[in-house]
Amino acid sequence: MNTVYTDLAARFGTPLYVYDRQALDAAIDNYFNAFSGSRALICYAVKANGNLSILKHFAARGCGFDIVSGGELARVLAAGGDPAKTVFSGVGKSADEIRFALQNKIKCFNVESLPELERINALAAETGCRAPVSLRINPDVDAQTHPYISTGLKDNKFGIAMADAEAAYRRAAELPHVDVLGMDCHIGSQLIDLSPMVEACERLLALLDRLAAQGIVLQHLDLGGGIGIVYDPKQDAEPDIAAYAAAVRRLLDGRGLELILEPGRSLVGNAGVLLTRVEYVKRGENKDFVITDAAMNDLLRPALYDAYHHISNVSAEREAFVADIVGPVCETGDFLAQNRLIGAQAGDLLAVHGAGAYAASMASNYNSRPRAAEVLLCGGEAKLIRRRETLDNILADEKACLSGISACHH
Ligand SMILES: *Cc1c(COP(=O)(O)O)cnc(C)c1O
Repeated sequence: MNTVYTDLAARFGTPLYVYDRQALDAAIDNYFNAFSGSRALICYAVKANGNLSILKHFAARGCGFDIVSGGELARVLAAGGDPAKTVFSGVGKSADEIRFALQNKIKCFNVESLPELERINALAAETGCRAPVSLRINPDVDAQTHPYISTGLKDNKFGIAMADAEAAYRRAAELPHVDVLGMDCHIGSQLIDLSPMVEACERLLALLDRLAAQGIVLQHLDLGGGIGIVYDPKQDAEPDIAAYAAAVRRLLDGRGLELILEPGRSLVGNAGVLLTRVEYVKRGENKDFVITDAAMNDLLRPALYDAYHHISNVSAEREAFVADIVGPVCETGDFLAQNRLIGAQAGDLLAVHGAGAYAASMASNYNSRPRAAEVLLCGGEAKLIRRRETLDNILADEKACLSGISACHH
């Protein structure tokens, strides 16, 4: 029995996300050690887990941030993160988001298309400044990960095709209100074999050399995020970040480029668990179900990507049976695990592992379920870093509009 988890569940209720600061530090140290001695900026990808206390911790550890919306920039600023270490990715940056980022003098826009480049140039002109830009190049390498999280292939919505890249850089160099600073890519997520990332790096460097020959000289190379984590301790291998770093450093040697990385999952994923209480065990004719108080609105990954999360019984070891572990949401896709060998009884506390990344940040109010609380373990101390949402929170924005509706009936 894990008494820390049982105590936290008793104190804060379930479902509950629990993160461990020591594990966050170990993950960031892993990157710092692998890239020590090279000019590297680690821009934590906020979308993996945007909790302000986690951002504040990474900022204190010297990290920058990779954002994909104005909302995420607001998070970085609220957490005391440095906009001058913040890069802005994403295919659909709105005019308001671009203005917001220009006002806050972010480090770089990772531009994903020519129309976006033109828009940024126009808005920078309006603001009377020059926008720092990098072009996101699609290196067309197969990350060999789940199709929903593979982003570096030709048919993907992300980035500028390699075939169009030189023309795009020439256009960027002509624009009066952008500074062409770098080149970036992000080929996918949850990569275990990192050789596609090394291959992407080689392709970008070849392009960088062709540009330099045309007088377009870049200052930084951003290789994105995407390094995977172990979700299934019985199946998955651990990605070798040190070997990846060594390969990248060899490729960059003597070039004087600043290196940027945008890890998300690999910094937070295995620093978190989702604690959930078993409500019922339902024995069916063909199938048994363990019904928990956590659902797809708390952890969407199994429903969205058919993702595997290791699940353990925190309360007791019991005789195992095969069951689907499901939540209360009215969707067949609402499962945390399918056909899983698990021993559990009503009232038991379960821990869903690997829930530090793309869990709380993807949570919703579907079925009008309040979003769960989040706790950060700092040594022996448990700090509440997000209060459990209340029904009042959920209803407030609609209640504020109710009177307008009754007026329609007069
Ligand atoms: C999602 C994303 C990341 C982070 O990916 P991880 O797999 O969590 O490391 C980095 N860069 C960009 C552009 C992204 O979209």
